[in-house]
Amino acid sequence: MKRNAKNYRKYAESLLELIDASPTPFHATRKLAALLKAGGFVELQEADAWSLKKGGRYTVTRNDSSLVAFVMGSKPPEQAGFKIIGAHTDSPNLRLKPNPAYEKSGYVQLGVEVYGGVLLTTWTDRDLSLAGRVVLQSKKGEPVSRLLKIDRSLLRIPQLAIHLNREVNEKGLLLNMQTHLPPILQMAETDLSSENVLKDLVARELNCQASGIVSLDLALYDVQASAFAGPNEEFLFAPRLDNLASCHAATLGLLEASNQDDATRVLAFYDHEEVGSETAQGGGSPFLKDALERMVMDSKNPRETLMRAIAQSIFISADMAHAVHPNYADKHEGQHLPLINAGPVIKTNAGQRYATEGVSSAHFELLCRRAGVNVQKFVVRSDMGCGSTIGPITAANLGIRTVDVGNPMLSMHSIREMAGSQDHGDLIQVFKEYFNSEKD
Ligand code: ZN
Repeated sequence: MKRNAKNYRKYAESLLELIDASPTPFHATRKLAALLKAGGFVELQEADAWSLKKGGRYTVTRNDSSLVAFVMGSKPPEQAGFKIIGAHTDSPNLRLKPNPAYEKSGYVQLGVEVYGGVLLTTWTDRDLSLAGRVVLQSKKGEPVSRLLKIDRSLLRIPQLAIHLNREVNEKGLLLNMQTHLPPILQMAETDLSSENVLKDLVARELNCQASGIVSLDLALYDVQASAFAGPNEEFLFAPRLDNLASCHAATLGLLEASNQDDATRVLAFYDHEEVGSETAQGGGSPFLKDALERMVMDSKNPRETLMRAIAQSIFISADMAHAVHPNYADKHEGQHLPLINAGPVIKTNAGQRYATEGVSSAHFELLCRRAGVNVQKFVVRSDMGCGSTIGPITAANLGIRTVDVGNPMLSMHSIREMAGSQDHGDLIQVFKEYFNSEKD
């Protein structure tokens, strides 16, 4: 953390605080909305009529797990366009099945489903707990949601001892998703049905009646706190850096940018990126487009106004990138080896798994130059498949010029990931520059 050491430390601390408070997209959305609210943003409801003011700052959420925030520009969008940063609130994890609790071999265990591309072995032998959304019945018989985060070691997926799995170091730990992943909750007791064990636990945590609990959206998470690491605190060890780091950098970039801008500035943080985005609140949904449409609703010809605005706008799709791994450097393209703490990465793919093209790439690179931040480039090896992001989906939905970028990291999709503390501060500077700069 050499550059602007004090500020950069503050940025990274604030990121780790967000991550530790946000084991699920529900928590992340609430926490990001709270950061924005502290910066003067007013919460809108999708079901209400909106009356938006010039320079007004607003947030709106969908399913408590996706968020759009925006600052109305001092000029109308058809004159100054939108400046948008998109990211995702979800991370791969293990989620409880609808009837999770069962007894086996004297234990109570919880059935789990795999959400997204989890590095499964990293979830073994960790101190796990439960978090998510609990839906209760109100007095009127309506569903009401409460967030739950049990802050202590509660569950474990124990590895088989090496004595019973002698070839594990040569052949690798192979995990069957149905039979090997259910964590142990407790020893079975004869006087308690396994179903009640979970509901009673949740009811105790939320101080409510177990009979009032209708449904649970609960996931497992690791209770170990995030940390600075390395001799000079140059690394961050934390879960969910992919992609809460990008959500946080975009939010701080907007909060620290000047109050006024000709352009209308927008953040779009989606749930469900890790499972393909095609949901009511995912990147494939009309959530962002609906919000943009409502921003131009007062103009004479809203449809044309939106088209004109989008034609002069840029969407920065921010998602973490692969830093070169020293033990597996041959998995990378030799001319494209992003390093940690060497600046954000522009991601390109001829097959359009990333939406970057020459002009959008140049826009981002010039932003980095103006912010005094180094920029790196990534392309996957030609003989390997490429990951993707919300970039191409949003580009196709809105017809908007898009660039895919993100900070370099290691251990992507592990229960505990690794990134650079300087990179985080640098990306915030670039986003701040984006939201500050006049349109050229
Ligand atoms: Zn991601």
